[in-house]
Parts: sequence; C-alpha cells; structure tokens
Amino acid sequence: MRYFILSDIHANLEALEAVLGAVHRGDYDEVICLGDLVGYGANPNEVIDRIRGLNPAVIIRGNHDKVASGIETAKDFNPIARLAARWTHDHLTPANQAYLADLPRGPQLVDDLIEVCHGTPYDEDAYIFSEEDGLLSLATSRRPLCLFGHTHVPLVLRMGAEGLEMDDLATTGPHTVTIPPNGRYLVNPGSVGQPRDGDPRAAYAMVDTEARSMTLFRQAYALDEAQRKIFSAGLPAVLAQRLGVGR
Ligand code: ZN
Repeated sequence: MRYFILSDIHANLEALEAVLGAVHRGDYDEVICLGDLVGYGANPNEVIDRIRGLNPAVIIRGNHDKVASGIETAKDFNPIARLAARWTHDHLTPANQAYLADLPRGPQLVDDLIEVCHGTPYDEDAYIFSEEDGLLSLATSRRPLCLFGHTHVPLVLRMGAEGLEMDDLATTGPHTVTIPPNGRYLVNPGSVGQPRDGDPRAAYAMVDTEARSMTLFRQAYALDEAQRKIFSAGLPAVLAQRLGVGR
C-alpha cells in the first residue's frame, strides 16, 4: 500500500493545491491526514472540501480543528492563534464545522507498519521537541513507524544502538528512509501550509508499506497569493509574513 501523507495544512489552499498537483493519482493508493486542516490560513472551507473529496483512509484531528469547530476553547492558544481560530470558527460552514468536530482523536493504528498521531502517541496535543519527548513517543508507539505532526518541522527520529538518533534532512531534494525489520521510527512529514523549519516550501510525504520506505518531499507554491488572501481576510499580518520565511 502506498500512502500520501498530509499534515498541518492550516487552510492554505495554494500550498495544498501545489502538493496535490505535484503528485499523480497513480503514485499512491490512499491519503492519510495528520490533522490541523484549518487555522491561520484564509481558505478553511475550500481546504476541508478538497480533503473530503480525497476521502482519506485515515484522518485525525489537530488542536486547531478542535478549537475552530468549537469542541474545545482557545485557552491554550497564543493571542495570534486565538484570533485566527475565532476568524476560522466564524467563517466555517455548519457542515464543515460538524466535519471537524467529528474527526477522530489520535493516535490511530493504520496497519502493521504505521501508527499516526497529531502531537504524540501519548497525548494528541503534546509536542515532540526534546529528546525526552522523542524517547517517550517511541516507547508508547505501537508500530514500527509512528507519524506525527503539530510542530510543523520535518523530523526523522529512530532508535539506534546508542539511543535516539536523528536523520540529517537535506535542504534540497527528497529524503528517503527505509524501516529495517526491528526498526522504531518517529517521523514528522512537515507541514503543508505553514512550514517552520526555515524552508517556506510546502512539505508532504509518501509511505510505501511493501518497501517499508518513507520519502519526505518539498514543493514550492504560490505563497504570495496565500499571503494576499490572509491580508485581505483581515487575519493577523504576521501569519502572512511567517509563510514567507517558513517560521
Ligand atoms: Zn498545526
């Protein structure tokens, strides 16, 4: 099975369309979405409609999906994220609000190889920032390959003989990892719609379960158009500016 992995789209339609345009329908069998369809960007309804049209095999909710749909308050959000969540909540159609509210909570088991979560396998809203977070996630994950999002930073962590090891991700070109029989991997494909690793290009990934391989890709998109929409929607200007620098 070949999975097309999308995470943290954040209502950025231009980034999503560029990623979908870069991938041919015959290149994958199913879509997996790791949450945060909305929040920050100016096209929440269009992004949700596009994802619904792809009929993902597995999709889980992100923290922004919960707040934008109204099932959770924005008390843990910073002021900018809170403003964006309020704007998103006010602009979602009732049907899309209901769709977000009904998204399942992570972690979810996909098959014998893959488990998915938004934040971590032990807490859907926690972040994997430190070595300790990575070790705890690997210890609680129930599959050789645990996919996560939430930090918007592509990351490949694996359990090596000496402990936790991290792949050096190339700044240009795709990065492929192959999961050995006894391998334990924790991988963030990066964010489609709001990358934070200093590379403004949209990030996505492909997993081939038969080959036990995963490849991380980057794709340039019309980010000036995404920025223009954020400005004209009256969303905080910093949300447009950060897209330009990928932070
Ligand atoms: Zn996110």
